[in-house]
Amino acid sequence: MIFSKEVAVQQVANLLHRYNGLYVNSMSEEKISLMGSITINMSSLGFTLYKTYRVEIIIPLDSDELPYVLDVGNQIDGSYPHRYVEGKLCLETDTNIRIRFIDGFSLETWMSEYVETYFFSYEFYQRYGEFPFGERGHGWDGIIQTYSDFFNEADGAKTIKIMASISNGKYRGHALCPCGSGQKLRSCHGPYIMKFYTDNRLKSIVRKDFFLLQEAVQKYNEQQHNTRAAKR
Ligand SMILES: [Zn+2]
Ligand SMILES: [Zn+2]
Repeated sequence: MIFSKEVAVQQVANLLHRYNGLYVNSMSEEKISLMGSITINMSSLGFTLYKTYRVEIIIPLDSDELPYVLDVGNQIDGSYPHRYVEGKLCLETDTNIRIRFIDGFSLETWMSEYVETYFFSYEFYQRYGEFPFGERGHGWDGIIQTYSDFFNEADGAKTIKIMASISNGKYRGHALCPCGSGQKLRSCHGPYIMKFYTDNRLKSIVRKDFFLLQEAVQKYNEQQHNTRAAKR
């Protein structure tokens, strides 16, 4: 569960205080809907964005579903890769945002770090044809990139080895690091990955992603096998 109703109501109050163009559109046992406008005033890399966007923000309650933003004002071009057809913004990988919420993220930080940055990146991309803070992949590319960042390991294959170890084992600082460096875990990736072994909520996120990844790889291999068999 990301938010209980009680916690969400408190955090929404803080959010409305900071973004005074938003109002509560509806509230039920399942979700809170915020409507209105947010003004982004952000400068980075010599580019300044000062613009107002019309949005709807949905906060699911007592649910594992993440909060999300709808582009009500249709201000994001449909061809932009990080906007879904139904108007939902692709803020970051779900894995990334989920882990941040477990780390004690509030709705307010979610807004400033993901939602504001989203609009900034979009406008920057429209202007310069490149992303200000690096390009982000979709699907598995994006998810493995997310873990690479959290584990502080640039290599995708090593990142997957670490995911496997977290999914199947306990943290043992004196054991060899799953990345294959030959060093002890505690003097290699240990400081970055320890919490994923010890916090059951984080561990279950890794385990779920790792399981789905294994399934995807298996399916891919079967397809390759069938294609090769058909050619013969
Ligand atoms: Zn995306
Ligand atoms: Zn290592």
